[in-house]
Amino acid sequence: MNLHSISRKSITALGLCSGGLDSILAGVLLRNQGIQVQWICFETPFFNADKAKKASQQTGIPLLIQNITPIYLEMLRYPRQGYGKYMNPCMDCHALMFKCAGNQILQTNAHFLFSGEILGQRPMSQTRPSLNYVEKHSGFKGYILRPLCAQNLEETIPEKKGWVDRSQLMNITGRSRKRQIELAEQWGITDYPNPAGGCLLTDQKYSIRLKDLFTNGPYRDDRDLYLLQWGRHFRLNETCKIIVGRTQNDNEKMMLYYRPNEDILLNIVNYAGPTVLIPYGCDPQIVEQAAAISISYTRAPETQATAVKCTGPSGVSHMNVYPLSKEISRLLMI
Ligand code: SF4
Repeated sequence: MNLHSISRKSITALGLCSGGLDSILAGVLLRNQGIQVQWICFETPFFNADKAKKASQQTGIPLLIQNITPIYLEMLRYPRQGYGKYMNPCMDCHALMFKCAGNQILQTNAHFLFSGEILGQRPMSQTRPSLNYVEKHSGFKGYILRPLCAQNLEETIPEKKGWVDRSQLMNITGRSRKRQIELAEQWGITDYPNPAGGCLLTDQKYSIRLKDLFTNGPYRDDRDLYLLQWGRHFRLNETCKIIVGRTQNDNEKMMLYYRPNEDILLNIVNYAGPTVLIPYGCDPQIVEQAAAISISYTRAPETQATAVKCTGPSGVSHMNVYPLSKEISRLLMI
């Protein structure tokens, strides 16, 4: 094939986009070569496409958003390479994302896939063996280009075929962001998020709660995963847990996921206090225990019973309950 005869305008690349600086740079770098660039971003209860949407608006690179929750959960239960520090299965997560992106290759007319990954940037998921693992298990071996560190990696099919000019790709390695920040300045990219954050599976507290939910439940659908983000969580028995709002924002977010036909909601009557949600309800004894915990997070006196309103699928009732001591409540906290 005469490489010089190839017009890169006819080449299309589909890239994973998290919305972070590296994925922005990888997209812009390929676009600067005349390649038609598109992005894809995946959503689950653990991460969303908000940052990717911003990146797409800023750069004008079109973005496809796909919810992959069912298939992601299958992987998350038993990731082949296990978890990182918390419940983050980064290597299998990347492999799955590339696999899902690859499944869009036909619809998007893409010739190859790419990402903003950088060799050596993350101790576990961006080593040479990890990048190879991801590629192998994505099902698209040879078709995944990492433009920011490509010169340090084996030549990919898009480079061999001349779809991409390898000499214009980068050789960035390691954790420093100096080169990326210089490139951003050079290319007029001014608005990009901090590197950390964005995935709940890397959050310690969330991961502990997720493990508990997977082990004990009650876990029926995605809303139980969303609810793990807010409030204090207490396990009251093997099948029942309660969520006690900590802030106004917690209370509001919990109410978005409240299901009047299934859940029990507790409110303290005479004192400012948290919203308390018992997903899928529980028996009256446990409701009383939940009320006692929630009163301990108010200014109600310890020596007096306090009125608590209980709203359940069968109607509203009231009870007077003594608070449980905070020390004992804490023992039940997940
Ligand atoms: S941090 Fe989260 S989204 Fe990113 S690779 Fe790891 S598990 Fe996947």
